[in-house]
Amino acid sequence: MSKVSIIGVGDVGATLAYAIQIHGLATEIILVDSNREKAEANALDMNHGLFFTPLVSIRTGSYADCEESDLLVIAAGARTKPEETRLDLTRRNARIVKEILRELESYIGTARLLVITNPVDVMTKVAVENLDVPSHRVLGSGTVLDSARFRYELSRRCKVDPRNLHAYVIGEHGDSEVFLWSQVHIGGTPLESFCQDCEYSCTADEQSSLEKKVRASGYHIVEKKGYTNYGVSLAVSRIIGAILRDERSVLTVSTLLQGTYNLADICLSVPCIVGARGVERIIETPLSEKEEEGLEMSARVVGSTIASS
Ligand code: NAD
Repeated sequence: MSKVSIIGVGDVGATLAYAIQIHGLATEIILVDSNREKAEANALDMNHGLFFTPLVSIRTGSYADCEESDLLVIAAGARTKPEETRLDLTRRNARIVKEILRELESYIGTARLLVITNPVDVMTKVAVENLDVPSHRVLGSGTVLDSARFRYELSRRCKVDPRNLHAYVIGEHGDSEVFLWSQVHIGGTPLESFCQDCEYSCTADEQSSLEKKVRASGYHIVEKKGYTNYGVSLAVSRIIGAILRDERSVLTVSTLLQGTYNLADICLSVPCIVGARGVERIIETPLSEKEEEGLEMSARVVGSTIASS
């Protein structure tokens, strides 16, 4: 029995609810949105699919209906417009997230809280600061999606199944994110060794063009269709599965850092073991000098956004 409440059922929240339904991750899903009619329409639409999915109770509700949830998800708020960066959203969304946290405070109980609203690292920090719960129970979707995009592009380049490829993006979910090239492994082989025997010739600037492609992919999708929903929802449903099933999966969620990589009092993505308690453990992966500098830069970017929000 697991209950998931989603606050904000726009393009991301509704697709996430659908992913949870078809993956059979929860037995109860509560949809909360300031646009109640939209939430009700989404609930009805999903209920019509129940004949084809694992059994789950799906309904709209108020904040009080979120009581006794195993997991609360915040996906409410404005999204990036084609001409703006995620950081531009900060003030608007911080106000919305704080308002939601005030409403949820009495009902949070032992729930884990997962934040998707952008800029997600800043919103995760807002949640950590405004809720009286241990920080390991507050997670941001962070760079789980970015890591998936990195793997996808690498798998295409190297012509290997992405499931046999380990690659992480850490830092900010945004322009300053850091690609951990030094930690890429394919079938247990470091990328450098893998490339030595490879028949596909990569140019010297292959890495930087692949980084650019991954970094721009969210903007590219928003430019063409106005929003992103599928990739992010599947990435978040993966995090939810890890929590509800206590899978202890290594995922680059955004979490409060308190000394890791000499960073403190900031939420950023780093590889974490994610399980029933939320963030079970942070893994301090060895970084190259360039990656370390990149992470410091990412922390400065997010830190200055928090300061200005
Ligand atoms: P959307 O506009 O489709 O949906 C937002 C929903 O939030 C709407 O249904 C709106 O009614 C609701 N809402 C607004 N204020 C609310 C409040 N105070 N209480 C309850 N509901 C409220 O937007 P979307 O495309 O679903 O994106 C949602 C958020 O997710 C945005 O901030 C977006 O930038 C972010 N996002 C994050 C990632 C990620 O990887 N972290 C990826 C994509 C989108």
